[in-house]
Amino acid sequence: MTMNDKKGTAVVTGASAGIGKIYARRLAKRGYDLVLVARRENLLDEVASSVRAEFGVKVQTLVADLAIAADLDNVENLFASDDSITLLVNNAGTSTLGSLTAVKQSEVDAMTGLNIGALVRLSLAALRKFNEKDSGTIINIGSVLGFHTLPISSIYSGTKGFVNNFTRGLQDEVAGTNVKVQLVLPAATATDIWELSGVPLSALDPTSVMEAEQMVDAALAGLDQGETITLPSVEDVQLFADYDAARLKLLEASQNGKSASRYLSAR
Ligand code: NAP
Repeated sequence: MTMNDKKGTAVVTGASAGIGKIYARRLAKRGYDLVLVARRENLLDEVASSVRAEFGVKVQTLVADLAIAADLDNVENLFASDDSITLLVNNAGTSTLGSLTAVKQSEVDAMTGLNIGALVRLSLAALRKFNEKDSGTIINIGSVLGFHTLPISSIYSGTKGFVNNFTRGLQDEVAGTNVKVQLVLPAATATDIWELSGVPLSALDPTSVMEAEQMVDAALAGLDQGETITLPSVEDVQLFADYDAARLKLLEASQNGKSASRYLSAR
């Protein structure tokens, strides 16, 4: 059995650029065959050729606009038809930053359709397949903006808040099985998404921006260490533990069936 037979095939969405392109390279280096998904065929072909040449794995490209139902169907169908798939990286995402009155409806639809709609469809397609085999890994790329909103990021942060909560639910669903689900929460990372969003990278404090290679290497190290939630740039892991403990404490405090005393004055 070759290394590739053991690892199987990884489906990487948004593999034509940025973080997805690095995932493709790193997973190929680890011995995965690849299915690379994005809209720009020429860029996908370039990534595929260089990965094949460098790592000798099988690489298939699938040109798809994941915000379009028919294209999404094609990617979803892969999971039913290709038994070699063992890993999904739900990475494709888009962002338009700006005031809510300036963001066009088409940009809102692109963010919700891709960041939420496609991620859910593909997560569920992978889940069905991986549950059958009791094995497989789903990596969902959220964002630290999933737990914070800037004045210009309401829609994007909303979509990433969805990714964070949805993925945590997915983790609960697979608890006790051999299916793994990792939620990756990058902070600012040097990719084209910034320019495309309307905020150039040059507008950010350079010390706050990670290289995509570092981000992906840290996220994969987190996966190797068995992490379910990975914050690649956060040094102090206790911060997230405290945040999560406070979240659960708040939930628990809400479950008492009566108004808080400060609201009794309206009676
Ligand atoms: P990027 O460089 O702009 O790459 C986005 C990728 O998604 C490209 O391959 C693009 O390919 C693909 N894509 C965009 N729209 C698509 C569509 N409708 N259908 C199919 N593919 C589509 O962005 P990135 O920074 O690598 O982003 C990757 C993920 O990381 C996203 O989910 C993003 O939200 C998340 N993230 C990024 C940062 C950051 O600072 N960079 C921080 C936190 C989280 P085509 O254009 O060829 O389709």
